[in-house]
Amino acid sequence: MAKIEIEFLTDSGDLRELCRQYWQIDTHRKFVHKVIELSEVFKIPRTKLASTVAASCIASSRDEACSSCGTPRPFKSRADFQQRRSWGNWGSWTCDDCQEAQRAAAREETEQRDQRRRDLIQHELDASKDPGLSGERLSLVDVVYLVSLLRAGGSEDLAFILPHESFSLLLSPTPELDREILDHLYRRSIICIHPDSREESIVIEDGEFIRFVPSKVHWILPLLPEGPSAGRLLEDLEDLLKSDEWPEGWLAKSEEIHRKVALHECLQYLRVVIEDHGFEFRAGAMTCHVLKSVLKTFSVGQAYNFIWRAARDAAAFYVRETTSKAHAANIVPGSIQRMAERALAEAWDVKAYRRDFRAPESVLSQVLFTLALQLPEGGFNTIPPPEDSNNSEDRI
Ligand SMILES: [Zn+2]
Repeated sequence: MAKIEIEFLTDSGDLRELCRQYWQIDTHRKFVHKVIELSEVFKIPRTKLASTVAASCIASSRDEACSSCGTPRPFKSRADFQQRRSWGNWGSWTCDDCQEAQRAAAREETEQRDQRRRDLIQHELDASKDPGLSGERLSLVDVVYLVSLLRAGGSEDLAFILPHESFSLLLSPTPELDREILDHLYRRSIICIHPDSREESIVIEDGEFIRFVPSKVHWILPLLPEGPSAGRLLEDLEDLLKSDEWPEGWLAKSEEIHRKVALHECLQYLRVVIEDHGFEFRAGAMTCHVLKSVLKTFSVGQAYNFIWRAARDAAAFYVRETTSKAHAANIVPGSIQRMAERALAEAWDVKAYRRDFRAPESVLSQVLFTLALQLPEGGFNTIPPPEDSNNSEDRI
């Protein structure tokens, strides 16, 4: 180990001598002079000796220096020296000045990266502003989705739309439909990613905008400065939805979206009752097929009746047959189907359930069923319009 080096901060010969003797070590790296001796020789109270030395010199050793600039690391006290010596190997250390310089460099790099990210997203936003968002070119589905999104996630001044994960209202009955709404609006350039979206919501590699996390980004409407404000647009669209003068084709399209939202309301309730029994269940194509066919004859409220009974029967089956929960949950779709078919064949009077507080009405349901279609009870007790036999395509 190198010897202790001293840099004096005082011109006093006495104090310099005190510092020399205080920090003097022998070949075993032990201090030569005891504090009590120094206190007597230099006539300084013991309690003030260490602070006097600290004010008069900086002691350090070449063994440990700043990994960046090479400045030796000072010993704060004898205790500090002994502790660091006892560790045996000196750790890596960076002086305060270099740490500050590194922090400043990191800050600048972050700022530059943020700026590059904003520039890339701004570029995309600018591209969407040509021709920009206006009410005229929107379809019924566009309008219903956009109005719902603005109501569920719009900021107070509608300057932006919050990230989906921060919504306090239910956008649509299911997370799957929520995702579909965001995808639809984004693909149609009706909403754009906000340039000030959080860093973790965007992936940029080699200066290229790679992907984004739809639940985490903030959104903005590509409105032109000379066009209507977001507030004005929302008002116009709401007026249009509740008016009697819908553009051509909207009525036919409304039947399709009515069926879709009714289906998702059933899926929403199905998830609640299945989880009620401690089952896990992912609705697949079979379940959707069954629920769609139930909704040809029954309202959502009546479908809830079948769904609740099917889940109860699955729970009983699980106990009776000592089968797995997954197997028990899998009998639910078939059970709903059988019940609905019997109800139809035997002309049951199927009692409609009420909404369950755990499956509340979504903003989308409110906008579509109450505002636009003006159905009583939010369409809950209305049988969805039948599918046109000439057009079995059920995609929107
Ligand atoms: Zn340094």
